[in-house]
Parts: sequence; C-alpha cells; structure tokens
Amino acid sequence: MEKYNRQISHPGFGDEKQARLERSTVLVAGIGGLGGAVVWSLVSAGIGKLILVHAGNLDEPDLNRQTLMTHDWIGKSRIEKAKETILNFNPSVEVEAYDFWIDENNLSSLVQQKKIDFVIDARHNFKERRIINEVCVNADIPFSNAAMNALEGYVFSVNPGKTACLQCLYSEDPPSWDPFGFSVFGAVSSTIGSMTAIQVIKYLSGYYDDIFGVLVNVDFTDLSSRRFKLKRDKSCLVCGGKQ
Ligand SMILES: [Zn+2]
Repeated sequence: MEKYNRQISHPGFGDEKQARLERSTVLVAGIGGLGGAVVWSLVSAGIGKLILVHAGNLDEPDLNRQTLMTHDWIGKSRIEKAKETILNFNPSVEVEAYDFWIDENNLSSLVQQKKIDFVIDARHNFKERRIINEVCVNADIPFSNAAMNALEGYVFSVNPGKTACLQCLYSEDPPSWDPFGFSVFGAVSSTIGSMTAIQVIKYLSGYYDDIFGVLVNVDFTDLSSRRFKLKRDKSCLVCGGKQ
C-alpha cells in the first residue's frame, strides 16, 4: 500500500477505496496511443487486473504515441511488449493479454468467462466500437469511450440501461470514415487516455460515481473544453429495450 500513499492520503480516498481498486478488473480494447495511456494510469494507480486486447506488431510510426513500446521492439507483438512494460513498472498488477482484434464472438466469450468490472473502448473504427457497445450493454458492464481525431478528443462513459449508449449518440457511422486517415499527436491521445483513466479510477474505487451520461470534448487548438449532457434514445436499437 505504501506505493499508493500519495493517492490514499487524498481526503475521502483512503485504504478502503484503494482496496476496491485493487479488487477490480478492467478490459481495455486497443492498446495504442489512447488505450496505452489509459492502461499506464490504471497501473500506476494500482488496478487489480487488466485484460488487454490488441492485435499486430509494432511499426515505427506507432512510436509517436504508444508509450508502452520501445524502439527495439519494432516488428514484434505490441500486446506482449505492453504486458512486459506494465509488469516491470508495477508487478502487483495481474495482466492477461490477447493478440486479436475485437469481434462479437471473442468479446462475448471474454465477458462471459471473466469477472469484468469495467471496459475501455479505445478502438479507432466504428465496427469494433459498435460491437463493444452492444456486448457491454447486453452484459450490463459499464464502459468508457475514449476517442480522438487530430486536435480534438472525446470521453464519455455508459451505464447500460441508465445512460445513453454509443448507438443513442451515433445511429449511423459517419460517411467515408478512414480509421487510419486522421493525424495523431501523442500528447492528445495521452491526455484523453489519462482523462478516461481518472474517470475509471474514481468510479471503481467508489470515490465518485457520477461519471456517466456526459460527453466531454476537448479542443487542443486552444485547450477549450465543452460538456454535453447526453439523452437516451428511447428507440435505440441497442439499449432502447433496457430499463
Ligand atoms: Zn442506446
């Protein structure tokens, strides 16, 4: 517990909330610029267990934002390196790593087999985001969407059946979305990732649970931010039937 003294000493936090964090399991889909930053903050805060899902090997252009990686790892599995970096930094954390992309079957079976308290959606395409949304809503698992596009970033969290889901917000995909067609600054993805992580830390520890139903948008051109209160769509194809 000594490792976490500086956060345990925060008024209203304390040993009991730290212990709740250490009993929690988070699945993170996407360990790139965003997901890697979420993971880094969760690991330093003393999360109990991480289930990481990310496919593929490290390429040189990943290195402007993927801070769990190292230059000597180019050409090798990113998820393996992420696990190694995490365990070197904080060996108290339990890590399971899966080298595949999210699909309905593999995410559903992970959710059924494991005790997952929270999910992070840090993917760069709407296909996987919609799968994560639907599986989490059906399984009643709260989750956060972390997203960015050039100098803009977004965070919003979903409490299934209680607050708006991704489908309520975007009933259709934007036309001609290219998952690799936008620029990325590492400082943008790491800031949005850290903002997402503090939401999860507050919620899972029991320190503050009012994290749902609001979309926070940050414009990194001038560092302005806006908060949008989200309304559920009663006819939503994913969560409309859920109370
Ligand atoms: Zn919905």
